Amino acid sequence: MKRIITVNSNQVHKSLETKKLLTEKLLNVGFEVSYDFHPDAELIISIGGDGSFLKTIHDFDFPEVPVVGINTGHLGFFPDISPDNIDAFIEAYLKEDYIIQNIPLIGASVCTNTHCLDVFAVNEVVVKGDKSRTIHINLKVNDKHIQKFSGDGMIISTPTGSTAYNYAAGGSIVDPSINLMQLTPLYPINTNAYRSFTSSIIFSSESIITIAPEYRFENSILIVVDGVEHRYSQICDIKIFVSHIRMNLLRMSDYEFWSRVSEKFL
Ligand code: NAP
Repeated sequence: MKRIITVNSNQVHKSLETKKLLTEKLLNVGFEVSYDFHPDAELIISIGGDGSFLKTIHDFDFPEVPVVGINTGHLGFFPDISPDNIDAFIEAYLKEDYIIQNIPLIGASVCTNTHCLDVFAVNEVVVKGDKSRTIHINLKVNDKHIQKFSGDGMIISTPTGSTAYNYAAGGSIVDPSINLMQLTPLYPINTNAYRSFTSSIIFSSESIITIAPEYRFENSILIVVDGVEHRYSQICDIKIFVSHIRMNLLRMSDYEFWSRVSEKFL
């Protein structure tokens, strides 16, 4: 039976060159290569940086098969393989010398006056003010009121996304083997008029975070899911939760999270 691998690349010159080279090498060892999503593919290879990796996962609607990345981008926290190591990668893949990192996504159920819609994120869901406006929201957890929050917004990140926007906003880096959600405020206002929490809050994977804009501001909320903006009219509330949908990231067998953190950040 033919073994199929899907290859997805961004349009950067180096990525397109890498795509050509990778295709030749995969064909040489007997794989069939598809550039579109193929239901029978056993592996998806994304060529680009972290942004392209996230785009591949969203474009292919959170596939069940493992996804691995070849890094032609800047940071490359998700893409594990250097374009110079394609031969070693193919050899290791054929020998099944790799590990699968199974990571949870977070979901956000956005309810407007007329309907609810679910979106899913690998890194984070950001709730912020549209057109640079301050947001004023009510924050509840498991239906218990926590606080009225005012500020630029808040990031709700997965452990995998903790090294991305969350980290830049002062949140903690989380070991991805821990299943939780981290809520990090963006420029919280603390004055006599408004009191907002200033540090990140860690929620268990069973928690449901509810963010409800105050009535008069309901059209000024912007939701950013893994870097992509979503606008909704008349938002009533946004419920954020750890999803049952999980992703399989294929990692080389020498992958270790904290070494990667130290190499990329410290
Ligand atoms: P982008 O330019 O694609 O990404 C911004 C930076 O974040 C890039 O250097 C990217 O790496 C890196 N990145 C993405 N996911 C990461 C992860 N899990 N761990 C560590 N670094 C990661 O920006 P975008 O298209 O707007 O959004 C994509 C992601 O970027 C978002 O999910 C968000 O987490 C992050 N972002 C960060 C900031 C910030 O740090 N101030 C602001 C907005 C968005 P590559 O260079 O390899 O692509």
